[in-house]
Amino acid sequence: MATINVKRKKLNFLERIYLPEVFRGMAITSWHFFKNIAFHLLRAIGFKHLRGAVTYQYPEEQRPMSKRTRTRHRLTQREDGSPRCVACMMCETVCPARCIYIVAKENPDPNIEKMPASFDIDLGKCVYCGFCVEACPEDAIRMDTQIVDIAAYSREGMYYTMDELLHPEKHGDKILSDPKKPK
Ligand code: SF4
Ligand code: SF4
Repeated sequence: MATINVKRKKLNFLERIYLPEVFRGMAITSWHFFKNIAFHLLRAIGFKHLRGAVTYQYPEEQRPMSKRTRTRHRLTQREDGSPRCVACMMCETVCPARCIYIVAKENPDPNIEKMPASFDIDLGKCVYCGFCVEACPEDAIRMDTQIVDIAAYSREGMYYTMDELLHPEKHGDKILSDPKKPK
């Protein structure tokens, strides 16, 4: 195997003692620090178009997301509030993480064969691939809630039931509930 000898540049005296580079780094850091403080102060007194550090003050301030971002799932509803899902199991079958669990039952509407008796997703296993949304023939499942702050105190807490999927606005209760703490 051929080897290449790389000649290292010889450091001069100032480079060998490192101090000028240390001070140069401190100067750059200080410049950004004071510039950000100045921008934040100007913003606080009314110059809203100015922005200091690029850090978003999460969770008070959320970074804008593209509408195409795959976020927490939801089940869409018919006009009467029942799920659009016809329990065809396409999403459960295609899911690479095997984290969708559907139990089907007969639909009282004679025009629709089936509906889900239960529809759970274990978001602790989900890889957010979006295959379930693509496979659905009924537009019954979507990943457009823009909810990304999903957390739980236990693995069971990452299970989302049909009711929670039909009503994603309830997600705040889910995050805050700790099954170990008395309510
Ligand atoms: S996004 Fe992917 S991994 Fe998550 S439930 Fe849908 S198919 Fe399964
Ligand atoms: S693919 Fe759509 S209609 Fe079929 S079970 Fe899943 S959510 Fe329901």
